[in-house]
Amino acid sequence: MLDLSESFLIAYALQSILDCFVDTPSGGIAYWVIERGIKREDRLALEESLKEISAHAHWIFVATMRKPQDDLKEISLTTTERGLMSQTVFDSEIEGTELVRGKSLHYIDPGTAILHTHRLLISVHEPQIFSSKPISSSLSDVLIARKTGEFAHPGEREHLLKVKAGWEQLKAKKRMAAEKEAERQKIAQQAEAERLARLADQRAELQANLDAMVVMPRSVSKSSFRQPRSSQILAAYQPSEKIGTCLICGQVTSDWYMFDGSTGNCKCNDCLKSDRTASDKAR
Ligand SMILES: [Zn+2]
Repeated sequence: MLDLSESFLIAYALQSILDCFVDTPSGGIAYWVIERGIKREDRLALEESLKEISAHAHWIFVATMRKPQDDLKEISLTTTERGLMSQTVFDSEIEGTELVRGKSLHYIDPGTAILHTHRLLISVHEPQIFSSKPISSSLSDVLIARKTGEFAHPGEREHLLKVKAGWEQLKAKKRMAAEKEAERQKIAQQAEAERLARLADQRAELQANLDAMVVMPRSVSKSSFRQPRSSQILAAYQPSEKIGTCLICGQVTSDWYMFDGSTGNCKCNDCLKSDRTASDKAR
């Protein structure tokens, strides 16, 4: 830590709110104390000239300019104050599952050497009313960042570590939840794809069955379905190939018109054509 607060105290001891400049290896650090509102053009010119000589410019208002509202959680800011708010590492807070960011303003009370800082300044009623997290410390207790010259009230650095750790945890949780959700969606998509594939299979099978019913007769050649020839029909209706012995003429033949399966005797067609009867045989 620099002994900057000491030089501040010396400045106060001199009873003049002196602006302060410190040269460091990481660039100049400038502190500018503001006692009254500054016209916008003047403020911009001042900011420009401070930028030229320093890497880090810090604005400190005198405490009499501070206009906190009744509940102290809100503060009314002038155009000058709004123009000179700055966002610091201490202007982050976890609210619910989100990281909220605001800005800071510093006020110094020359009489008591107390530094009042309003962190997390966020506009709640345009344009003047801002919500804030007020914090006040004796200037001698205020730490100053070596590289940037940023003020840190007692406990703020520890709180910052907690916020950072909490935010990392939250991010990890969100990441895990997002991964889980992605996995769930992937599984759901796979299930849906499988369902559609099954449906397509079923549809294809159904179609194939339909095709078989409708198309197959057409696809078979007509010749295969031609009417059987009459001879084939007759052949199919030939009584049998059974051979019998004719009771009339005695020949053994399959050309009979009557056959007795139990005796193997028949009456042949020759005898039928010749009008031969059993009595002829007897003659
Ligand atoms: Zn016969």
